[in-house]
Amino acid sequence: RLHQLRKSFGKVVAVDGVTLDVQDGEFMVFLGPSGCGKTTTLRMVAGLETTSGGDIFIGERRVNDLSPKERDIAMVFQNYALYPHMSVFENMAFALQLRKMPGEEIARRVREAADLLGLEGLLERRPRQLSGGQRQRVALGRAIVREPAAFLMDEPLSNLDAQLRAQMRTELIRLHRRLGSTTMYVTHDQVEALTMGHRIVVMNGGTVQQVGTPREIYDRPRNRFVAAFIGSPTMNLVDCEVGSSQGATYLSSPILRYAVKPEQARLLAERGAGGVTVGFRPEDVTLHDGAGPLDGRIAAGVDVVETLGSELHVYLVAEGATIVAKTGADAPVRVGARLSLEPHPERIHVFERESGVALW
Ligand code: ATP
Repeated sequence: RLHQLRKSFGKVVAVDGVTLDVQDGEFMVFLGPSGCGKTTTLRMVAGLETTSGGDIFIGERRVNDLSPKERDIAMVFQNYALYPHMSVFENMAFALQLRKMPGEEIARRVREAADLLGLEGLLERRPRQLSGGQRQRVALGRAIVREPAAFLMDEPLSNLDAQLRAQMRTELIRLHRRLGSTTMYVTHDQVEALTMGHRIVVMNGGTVQQVGTPREIYDRPRNRFVAAFIGSPTMNLVDCEVGSSQGATYLSSPILRYAVKPEQARLLAERGAGGVTVGFRPEDVTLHDGAGPLDGRIAAGVDVVETLGSELHVYLVAEGATIVAKTGADAPVRVGARLSLEPHPERIHVFERESGVALW
């Protein structure tokens, strides 16, 4: 449990009041752009960094003033940090030997972890005789043998190539299911976050932007930052003014005009929202032939079509603005064609322009 956790390095505020409960056995992913304070948060939990304010609890224990050793957690880093002169076995056994654990117990734990990670045949090798994926598994093994109360992982897969990363992702999910240990996992890769996390903490500028399940974060982003950070290609965002005519309330921009429902109109009026940003994901649009100036549709020309095997990413230009649509691979889209693009009204997100807060 983190409560109002803060960290400054001189004038740089790296972590600015993070409050968060991680459930027992949960796989919690910290996601955010470079420099948002993910690693610093994790390092404070590990005890590798002092705090500038706030509290850290593991179970019922306040651990702020405990040394890393006393916190009973294991950290797995991006750069493995294996001892090059030790064998795989010795690397995994080292922390247990420091604890003066009996030899048979050490051997039993290392064998179990090696079994779990498919390292049985490699125990005598040195790290340089292993592939990147195998080294990463040894780093995991070293954490597992300690049977810690929690695992902290800082971008553990980012040194691996794309294919191996995808494979290790599923292995980690399986491993977590077997071990059931509470895990805090830092990444800037949204695919890792969406596929692995029970819940995701999205951070920006040292603060928590949203905490939720992958579905919640994707379907109901709480603000424009989260909306734009998650999803690939990113959500389309169109700045609109709020206006009304003949009793109906409209959101309008040079490319889009769309009537909102009465309850949405009331919300806009209550909030006094003048300017908003309308957001819709590339997969939440329908492309129609012809470019009639209809309400709720954007007239656009097809600029670039990317073929991704199972789908197309269609980049359209409307009055100089780029809009992206995802379609099935066999959609008849031609570069240069004029189309109208209809965001599904039920899948539209609206954010207050100034604060970025999601209204719906
Ligand atoms: P990345 O994904 O790039 O690792 P991050 O989200 O993990 O980023 P942090 O490493 O936590 O970010 O850094 C947060 C901020 O604190 C950054 O602005 C960084 O420059 C700053 N920072 C981190 N460590 C130190 C330090 N030892 N001294 C000074 N500033 C630091």
